[in-house]
Amino acid sequence: MSEIRFVDLGLDSAVLDAVSTVGYETPSPIQAQAIPILLEGHNLLGIAQTGTGKTAAFALPLLSRIDRDVCEPQILVLTPTRELAIQVAEAFSTYARQFRNFQVLPIYGGQDFVPQLKGLKRGAQVIVGTPGRMLDHLRKGSLKLSTLKALVLDEADEMLRMGFIDDIEAILAATPKDCQRALFSATMPPPIRKVAETYLKNAKEVRIESQTRTVERIAQFVLPVFAERKLDALTRVLEVEPFDATIIFVRTKAETTVLAEKLAARGHAVAPLNGDLNQRQREQTVEDLRRGKKDIVVATDVAARGLDVPRITHVINYDVPYDSEAYIHRVGRTGRAGRDGKAILLVTPRERSWLRTLERATNSPMTAYELPSPAELQQMREQQFEAQLLAFAEDGKVAKALALLDGIAERNNLDPGLLAGALACWLESAQPGVMPMEQPQALPTPSTEPRRPRPDGERKPRHGKPGGKNFKKAPFKKSKGKPSAAGAKKFGDKPRAAKP
Ligand code: ADP
Ligand code: MG
Repeated sequence: MSEIRFVDLGLDSAVLDAVSTVGYETPSPIQAQAIPILLEGHNLLGIAQTGTGKTAAFALPLLSRIDRDVCEPQILVLTPTRELAIQVAEAFSTYARQFRNFQVLPIYGGQDFVPQLKGLKRGAQVIVGTPGRMLDHLRKGSLKLSTLKALVLDEADEMLRMGFIDDIEAILAATPKDCQRALFSATMPPPIRKVAETYLKNAKEVRIESQTRTVERIAQFVLPVFAERKLDALTRVLEVEPFDATIIFVRTKAETTVLAEKLAARGHAVAPLNGDLNQRQREQTVEDLRRGKKDIVVATDVAARGLDVPRITHVINYDVPYDSEAYIHRVGRTGRAGRDGKAILLVTPRERSWLRTLERATNSPMTAYELPSPAELQQMREQQFEAQLLAFAEDGKVAKALALLDGIAERNNLDPGLLAGALACWLESAQPGVMPMEQPQALPTPSTEPRRPRPDGERKPRHGKPGGKNFKKAPFKKSKGKPSAAGAKKFGDKPRAAKP
C-alpha cells in the first residue's frame, strides 16, 4: 500500500474535492503511479487486474487537464461492453461533479442512434463507448475527433477477446497525432502489445505486480455473490461462523460507517475503523476489540494497517482489495500468534478474475464458501432459540414465574403450555427475529464461470475471430469454453456484414 496521498499528486482542486466527497482515503497503487504520469501528458501503458481502481487512475488526471469552457470532445474512452461504458461515464460525472457545464456522453451499440446523435450535437467533453458504435459515428461524421486531447483504451485485452481490435485501430488512426493515449489491460497479449507499440509512442509503463507470499494457517474461502446481495450474504456468514472477533474490509471510509450501522442494527457489537478517526479514537476501537467490548470492526486498509489483535478469528473481504499485497495484509490480521484463521472473500461476477490472482499470490487455493441452505439455517436458529430458552430454565426465578403462570392458567381455564407460547410471541414482538418463525430464503449466488461477451448489440469485426487463448478460466470450476462466433450469435450479437 502506498503512503502517497491524493493531495500530493497534483490533481485539480475541484477533482480533489470530488474524490474526498466519494470517500477515497488513499490512491490505489495504480492510481499513485499513473496519475502523475498522465498529468504530465505522457502516454501510459497500465497493466493491472480488475478492481485495482483503473477508472480513477485515468479519469482524475485527464479531467484535471481538460478545458472546461470548451464543450467539444476532449477525452474519448473505449470500453468492451455497454455496462462498462455506463460505469465509466458515471465515474466521470462523479469526479467532475464540481465542474460547471460538464457533459459526458456514453455511446454504445444496441441503443438507438437518435439520442446519441442528439447528445453528440449538444456536445460533450468526455465520450465513453464501445468501439463498434464509436466507429459508426466516426464514419457517419457525427463524431469528430480533431479536438481530442486524450484517448483511453480500457480493458484492452477484453476488447481484443471480443474481436474489436480492428475497430480500435481504425479509431486510433483517426485521432490527432499529438493526442495523449493510455491503454489499460490486465494482460499483455501480443496484439495488444503491437497496438501499444504503434499508437502509444514512448509510453511509460506501470505494472501492478502480484507478489507471491504464502499465507500459513489461514483457510481461504471465496463466496461469489451479486453486488446487491452482499449485505445479505455477509449477515448470513456472521450468523453461521463461530467467530471470536471479525474484521471486515471495505473500500471507503464512508462504507465503514454505513456497514457498521447496518450490522449494529442487526444486533452485532461493531465499530467502524477509518482514517477520519483521530489516533485516540482508533486506539480506543482497537482496545474495545481486544477486550471483547466489540466483536466486529469494519475497516479500510489504511486504518487497519498493522492491526494486531489475537482474538481476530475471521477476516471478511466485503470489497475486493486493490492488489494482492493488500489482500495478503488483510488476511494477515487473523492467524496471529500461532492461531488458526479464516478469510472469506466476497466476489461479484465482475471481480471473479481476482480468484486466480490471489491464489497465485498466496500460493494456496481458495475453497468455495458454502452458505447454509434455508433448511440448515432454520435448524440452526431453532437450536439457538432452544439453547437460550434452556439457559433461562436454570434461572432461580423460574419457579416463581411458573407459580404466577399456573395461577393465570387456572383462573382462565387454560393449558399452561399455551401461556409459554404466548410469552414467546410477546418476546418476538419486542425483539423481532428472536423466535425462528419463518424459514429464511435462499440467496441467489452467481457462478464462478468466466464472463462471456454481452449482447450489447455491438457488431462483430470484419476480420479476425472473437475469442482467444487468453480467455480467463475459473479457478475451481471448468470453464464452459471460449466465446465463439456461435456463442456470440446465441447471445444476440449481430455479425458484421462481410466486406465485398
Ligand atoms: P478497475 O477498473 O481496475 O477494475 P475500478 O476503477 O472499477 O477498477 O474500481 C473498482 C472500485 O474501487 C470502484 O468501486 C471504485 O469506486 C473503487 N475505488 C477506486 N479507487 C479507489 C480509492 N482510491 N479508494 C477507494 N475506493 C476506490
Ligand atoms: Mg475498469
